[in-house]
Amino acid sequence: MDHVTHLECVLCGATYDPEQVIYTCPNHEGVKGILDVHYDYDVVLDRFDAALDGNVASQWKYEAFLPVSEDADVVTLQEGGTAVHETPTLGAELGVTASVKDDGENPTGVLKDRATSVAVTKAKHAGRDVVTCASTGNAAASLAGYAARGGLSCRIFVPEDAPAGKLTQPLVYGADVLGVRGSYDEAYDLSLDVTDEFGWYNRNAAINPFQVEGKRTVGHEIAEQTSGDLPDWVVFAMGDGCTVAGAWKGLREFADLGLVEETPKLLGVQSAGASAIHDAFHGHEDATAVAETVADSIEVSRPRNTVKACRALEESGGTAVTVSDEEILRAEALLGRTEGLFAEPAGAAPIAGVRTARAEGVIGDGESVLMVVTGNGLKDPESVRSVTDDVVSIEPALGDVVDRYGRG
Ligand SMILES: *Cc1c(COP(=O)(O)O)cnc(C)c1O
Ligand SMILES: [Zn+2]
Repeated sequence: MDHVTHLECVLCGATYDPEQVIYTCPNHEGVKGILDVHYDYDVVLDRFDAALDGNVASQWKYEAFLPVSEDADVVTLQEGGTAVHETPTLGAELGVTASVKDDGENPTGVLKDRATSVAVTKAKHAGRDVVTCASTGNAAASLAGYAARGGLSCRIFVPEDAPAGKLTQPLVYGADVLGVRGSYDEAYDLSLDVTDEFGWYNRNAAINPFQVEGKRTVGHEIAEQTSGDLPDWVVFAMGDGCTVAGAWKGLREFADLGLVEETPKLLGVQSAGASAIHDAFHGHEDATAVAETVADSIEVSRPRNTVKACRALEESGGTAVTVSDEEILRAEALLGRTEGLFAEPAGAAPIAGVRTARAEGVIGDGESVLMVVTGNGLKDPESVRSVTDDVVSIEPALGDVVDRYGRG
């Protein structure tokens, strides 16, 4: 990895050798000392010879930017390369020029596949045979899929009350699914103890400095796909804050390197019931001791990447808003009804966030907005039913249809 110079602690600036297996900076209590990967961009640019023509078959188009050895066997299911849809009907509802990037198209249905592909590639290259993580559900399902693809064993920790789809998926991928009778935050702490005890390769949000680097490719792609017509705002849901931080790093480095002209403002969206990053960004006391929201993927009480996420929002000139569960579910139904796109609740939170940001005057009249849907709705088809119409039960008889719609 001669293109990776060092790992640097976001709190104290201590630096570490990227070839050393280390998760967080030992100078701080717990996992607060998150490490950031630094690159030698001369080497990166030397290797990056792809044309930024808007054609992205997978995120490995940006391999020169990813922290993997040149001789590593890449474990991939063709993640990334997801579509950006113009969404005028949704835009009219929200009062903005709108587009949606649908990262629910990824192989296991989530943006996290970008990061998992990098993590599993590294685990395999390092000769590790067991991978683990704690997750609200999606990271675990994603890890299980890529572990199966790469021929590694997978043992994952999820809250036992995760939506059924998110528990079934890793079981189908052949993982050991350990349903923790507790919250995501408790599952996370347990997975750290397990990593210490057994030495399994850990893909956890934030603490694995390399996996999160895969999330930069959503920023690279947005820069490439919107080149020349960059939206004013790009909007992400925030749980641990890794996605928004990774996306920003990708957007910023493409602009810094002169590959694109400018960067957008970032809007980070949290649920009012899980608002720790929002609260830190605005300098309030954290309003929620124990996170509770219908958007299970962002139900995080103690986000692991608050520092990086707040820096990303700040540097971009953006901000954070919160939305209610009701607003999230209504946004999910609105996205489906107006544009034929199905997001899980966390994936629809950006749409709700844009409505709030418009109402608060954060997003101005005539501004353009790209909302990133981070997860596919089929993972959790139940929760949104409280705001959709019901199935109409009929006999298999023409008369029942005529009763409803009149004569044809
Ligand atoms: C994990 C996840 C998020 C939040 O990402 P963080 O990196 O934890 O901020 C948002 N939406 C979906 C669908 C997710 O799976
Ligand atoms: Zn440190």
